Amino acid sequence: MPDFEISILGGSGGPFENSTQCFMLRSTHNTRDTQLICVDGGVGLGSIATMLRLDKNTKVVESLYENEEEPIEKYVDNTMLPQLVRGFPQIITSRLRGNILQQAMELYQKIGEYYITHPHMDHIAGMIMNSPAIYEPSVLSKKYVKGLPFTIKPLNDSIFNDIIWPQLSNKSLGRLDLVTLSQQIPHNSSSIPEWNIIPFEVYHGSKVSDLTAHVSSSVYIITNTRTKNSIVMCGDLEKDHDNLQEPKLLDQMWSYLAKNVPLENLSSIVVECSNSSSIDERRLFGHLSSNKLLDELQVLRDKYSISSGLGNLKVIISHVKMAYLDKDPRLTILDELRTLAHTIRGLENIAFSIAVQGYTFTV
Ligand SMILES: [Zn+2]
Ligand SMILES: [Zn+2]
Repeated sequence: MPDFEISILGGSGGPFENSTQCFMLRSTHNTRDTQLICVDGGVGLGSIATMLRLDKNTKVVESLYENEEEPIEKYVDNTMLPQLVRGFPQIITSRLRGNILQQAMELYQKIGEYYITHPHMDHIAGMIMNSPAIYEPSVLSKKYVKGLPFTIKPLNDSIFNDIIWPQLSNKSLGRLDLVTLSQQIPHNSSSIPEWNIIPFEVYHGSKVSDLTAHVSSSVYIITNTRTKNSIVMCGDLEKDHDNLQEPKLLDQMWSYLAKNVPLENLSSIVVECSNSSSIDERRLFGHLSSNKLLDELQVLRDKYSISSGLGNLKVIISHVKMAYLDKDPRLTILDELRTLAHTIRGLENIAFSIAVQGYTFTV
């Protein structure tokens, strides 16, 4: 039985501001009440409201390139289509009352935690803008914003500082807590107690002002402690550096995964692939392209070291940059990944899909 329901509130890497990265997760085992967590908060309430209004039977994807809409089949692997829902599953929406705005706020109330991968705007903007709704009298909520130190410190010092945004995290208010996690230390979700979450720091390019200074991001491995199934939720990332002085951070994450999560328990990897393989390497700015993602999947294959390779692992691609192009770059990237993977031992049967905004995946 699948464990994880992932609603894609936003799955792009910008520059459009209404679709940036935010994944809302629910445990499929929880049939009584709806407890939710978000990984990243690029968008939020606005996207929830849009999703509540979608016609569940019209399975299209907004594209804005060759056609304004494209069929969902172009973006999602065939094996995942039967469980894919446009908008939110019935179990979530059936409990909401009132008009669309009230329903959106009721759903927002159920988000207990945000696990932020890094403090770039496209991963936090919605979470910040939405935060006054925590104090909406009829739907008061309590939220934790969690992340590694390089995420929480800037949120505390530079965002919730009474200058850029009111200090809604002030202890006297008691409804928004910023929580610092520790690198590679398991942590139990407060909203979904059966979920154990481990943060891994990864590299994400360098500063514009100082090309020798790293920018960091995170990957979260989420494990259901009862079923032992895990999902990997990646923030923005780049491959490890060749410099031998620097730790191989992404490599450590792949090693942990192969050692601790049997392949049959690996429900899915949600990973960025911001660019197609045709991009000039100097313009990657701390991200992956199709060929670099396939390099990483080969690293993982070698660490599992089993004859079937990665089998039919589900890999969901996020954070594609919506660039000035004739063709939808998500379709270009998906095509590259599928075509190239087919020629690589152990990667032939991977099921690649795009994290299309407005849909809920079950894995
Ligand atoms: Zn980003
Ligand atoms: Zn970023």
